[in-house]
Amino acid sequence: MRLNYKEHEIHLKSTFRTTHGASDVKRVIVIDIDGGLGEASPVHYYGENLETVKIFLEKAQAVLGDDPFTLEELGTKLDRVLAWNHSAKAAIDMAMHDLACKKLGIPLFKYFGITPRTDLATSFTISISDPDTMKKQTAESPGYHVYKVKVGVPGDIEMVAAVRDATRARIRVDANEGWTAKDAIWRIKELEKLGVEFIEQPLHRDDFDGFRLLRSKIDMPIIIDEGIFRAGDIPKYVGLADGINIKLSKSGGLREAFKMIAVARAHKMKIMIGCMIETSVGITAAAQLASLVDYADLDGNVLISDDPYTGVKIVDGCLRLPDGPGLGVKPAK
Ligand code: MG
Repeated sequence: MRLNYKEHEIHLKSTFRTTHGASDVKRVIVIDIDGGLGEASPVHYYGENLETVKIFLEKAQAVLGDDPFTLEELGTKLDRVLAWNHSAKAAIDMAMHDLACKKLGIPLFKYFGITPRTDLATSFTISISDPDTMKKQTAESPGYHVYKVKVGVPGDIEMVAAVRDATRARIRVDANEGWTAKDAIWRIKELEKLGVEFIEQPLHRDDFDGFRLLRSKIDMPIIIDEGIFRAGDIPKYVGLADGINIKLSKSGGLREAFKMIAVARAHKMKIMIGCMIETSVGITAAAQLASLVDYADLDGNVLISDDPYTGVKIVDGCLRLPDGPGLGVKPAK
């Protein structure tokens, strides 16, 4: 099998700002393995960029082989090529699943035995800005059942209050490791008054003492994102958090994400499936598994103005999968 790749520059409709930085443009790589599509959306805070993705893809060509159904074995082989590089591995895993399912003539969700739900709401992200802008962005993006507000900076309670002013929908917040435990305790108590449903990654991923303290002081559910890449990372947060955020670009693809769902369920944890700023290739791949989880946060493709692909749609605030074979993704034009 032959792997080709193409770089895409995609543009945010408005500046996307979190504790990890701000951006108006994102560069991603869409790969094609004999007609199967996958996407790498690397982020600097996990040690990846376009160059590391390209280096990985060049090296990975040697282990692809000729059989698109050796999906389990391929994951092991890719881990031997280089450690980490999860977004690059995810691109290959997505493309191979897309190709295998196109050969079978079935949508990817069927390959995983999933009956797609039509009532799964995705959250829409309001990133960090001044409260007036965040209120305006919420008001100008109606129709979502859930808004996810980025916090983790001074003044963030006022920001969430401004979003609350603009909507009666559910609000979730994501601090992206921005708080200390001491900070988090009073902030979360304020957020409770605003009716926030849960908090994602309040503290640094390694602040286990902090998570222990939070657990004893607050009731709001805590979801771990930055601290969890693969299934093996889940047990260390059992008893300290209520759920995990799975992203294909952290897990290295669908296959590991499916295993993570089973492991999280075994530990009675809630599951969110999330994304980076990505095109409809990566978002549609994640959406294939979304019916198995509790919370979907798959809005990366609707935050950009020039998505080169079409795939999963949002209808009345809920995810609607395409029914074509594989990912069901097509070029936008
Ligand atoms: Mg997050």
